[in-house]
This record gives sequence, C-alpha cells and structure tokens, in this order.
Amino acid sequence: ADERESMYLVSGYAQKYFSEVLWERELGKAIGLSYFKERGFTDETIKKFELGYCLDQWDSFSKTALNKGYRLEYLEKTGLSIVKSDTNDPTNSRTFDRFKGRVMFPIHSMSGRVLGFGGRILSSDKKAAKYLNSPESDIYHKSKVLYGIYYAKQAIAKEDNCYLVEGYTDVIQLYQRGIHNVVASSGTALTPDQIRLINRLTKNITVLFDGDAAGLRASLRGIDLILEQGMNVKICTFPQGEDPDSFAKNNSLETVREYLTENSKDFIQFKASLLVKEAANDPIKRADTVRDIMNSISKIPDKIQKEVYIQECAKIMNISEAVLFNTLAQLGKKGA
Ligand code: ATP
Ligand code: MN
Ligand code: MN
Ligand code: MN
Repeated sequence: ADERESMYLVSGYAQKYFSEVLWERELGKAIGLSYFKERGFTDETIKKFELGYCLDQWDSFSKTALNKGYRLEYLEKTGLSIVKSDTNDPTNSRTFDRFKGRVMFPIHSMSGRVLGFGGRILSSDKKAAKYLNSPESDIYHKSKVLYGIYYAKQAIAKEDNCYLVEGYTDVIQLYQRGIHNVVASSGTALTPDQIRLINRLTKNITVLFDGDAAGLRASLRGIDLILEQGMNVKICTFPQGEDPDSFAKNNSLETVREYLTENSKDFIQFKASLLVKEAANDPIKRADTVRDIMNSISKIPDKIQKEVYIQECAKIMNISEAVLFNTLAQLGKKGA
C-alpha cells in the first residue's frame, strides 16, 4: 500500500509538472499549448482536464523529478521513466522520459487521482504510435479505468445515460461543447470491469462510433458484454471521416444534441439492419447473420426484453419468430 501511495504521489507530481511546462515554459507554450488551442480547446478546458506537455528532450522530466526527491523506483514502476542499462557495463544506466515530445492527457480514477497518462505525438512521424499510454502497473489497470469518468460521473447519473466514445479528444470536445456524460475506453476493447463502472451510475449506454467504420463490426461484438450486464445499449454513428471530436468542434450544442437524439438507434435493431443489408442476397451469409444476432439477444438477462427483440428482429430480417426462437434455443444448448 505504501508502494502504491508513492506511485500515486509521483503520478500527481508528473501531472503538475507537465501542466506547468505547458503553461509556463516557452517551448511548452509554443508547441503543446498551441497544439491544444488549434484543436479548439479553451484555456478553461485545458486546465479542467489537467492537460500538459512533455518536452522533446531525453530526460528533462525524470531529472527534475529525481532532483525533487522522487525515487527512480517509482518513476520506473509508473512507467513515466524508462531505465536502460548499458549492456557492456551493467553498473551504467540511463534514464529516459517515456512521453518525450508528447502532449499529455492524465487519466483519473473515479475519485480524481492520477493513475496514468495518454500521450499524443505531435509530429507526423509515422513510425511512432500516435498515442502512447502508461504501462500496466499497481495503480494503472487499463481494463478497469475509463477516461473521463471523474468528470462525467455526476452527469451520467443525472442524465441517466452514458456516452461512450473512442478517444481522449472525443471526451474533451464533447465536454467543452456542453455534453458532460461522456467517457472513453481509449483504444482498448471494452471490458466487463469498465462496464461495471458505468452500470453503477446508469443502465443506459450510448456508444458513439467514429465515422471510419473500419472497426465497426468487430466493435459490435464487444457490445454483447454490455447486454450481459442487463444494460440498454444504443448506437450512434457519425458521418464518414468525422468523429465525436470533429463533430462537436464544428457544430453548436443544439446541433450536436439533435444529432445524437436523432441518430441513436437501439443496438439490436441497428445490428439487425446492418447485417441484413450486408447479407442481402447471400443465403449462407444470411444464416450466419441470424445466428450472430440471436447470439447477441441470448446475452440479455431479461426474458420479456428478449422476446420483444425477437419479435422485432423477425420483422427486420423477414424471418418467422418460430425459427428465431428455435435458433435461440439451439444457441442455449451449445452454450451449456
Ligand atoms: P486524434 O483526433 O488525436 O487524431 P483520435 O482520438 O481520433 O485521435 P483514433 O485514431 O480515433 O484517435 O483512436 C481512438 C483512440 O484509440 C485514441 O484516442 C487512443 O486512445 C487510442 N489509440 C489510437 N491510436 C493509438 C495507438 N497508435 N496506440 C495506442 N492507442 C491508440
Ligand atoms: Mn477511429
Ligand atoms: Mn477518432
Ligand atoms: Mn479524432
């Protein structure tokens, strides 16, 4: 526990340091702050989300932290610093800043403690990953956190709905626009633990997908996990090439609200329509599709809700209810 406390302390210090660099240092202002401003973030937003910048130097953060008395052990355990030893001389090692040259998004726990960071590269250097995250550690378990939950929790409960987006900037831009009940899974597939965090606040999730649609079908599978927890899921997609960030940046709150309301579709209906379109003239594909949908429906704990969905899918897919109930029963047997 003492060890984790030390990791929290160094993470909190790092957040303050990166923010100070962003606001006070010439290079921080010229590079980091202007980047966030170009993305349309206001001063207030940048401060609220405690954004920062890690200088494009090998070890300026690590050195400063060590000088302040933070121990290398915890800098390394939180992944803020990377220690590389000289293979020829193991007594000789060098310390590097993991997030060198990146703008920083601190990731907070439900209660507001800094657990880790996402860092976005600024150059268009295609070799480096666009986003780099803190590694798994005793305080940062990426499968158990949702980006933005600290800022969103009250609004999620009040609105009785949670918007789930893909990225950091989607959360921030929507929040700035006035939609506060929003969190991100930050690139990873949604996990049962993440869903449980939301489930404590509301039974309703609306998943907002980027308009690139590349991962749409794969992502749809992850949504079965939400159904399993007895939650109601809606899906909303964005126009080609847009994501919630760009959409919220370029439209008024009223337009964004209207768009979300008009385009949020019940998950099962959405999936059924999508698959029907894809498999229109291919009988074998259609059969797979029916099983796929029934598999999703089989995850719903509530019997009545299940039955209502089967009736609706029968209409959408133009298949008799009897056949669908049969398919469901067969799936049940296989699962058992
Ligand atoms: P931006 O608008 O800054 O370009 P984005 O949030 O729209 O970024 P996407 O490409 O849509 O980025 O990816 C969604 C999320 O997936 C990101 O916010 C990030 O959390 C994660 N992600 C994206 N690319 C990477 C990567 N190369 N490595 C790790 N995580 C990534
Ligand atoms: Mn994307
Ligand atoms: Mn995106
Ligand atoms: Mn984006």
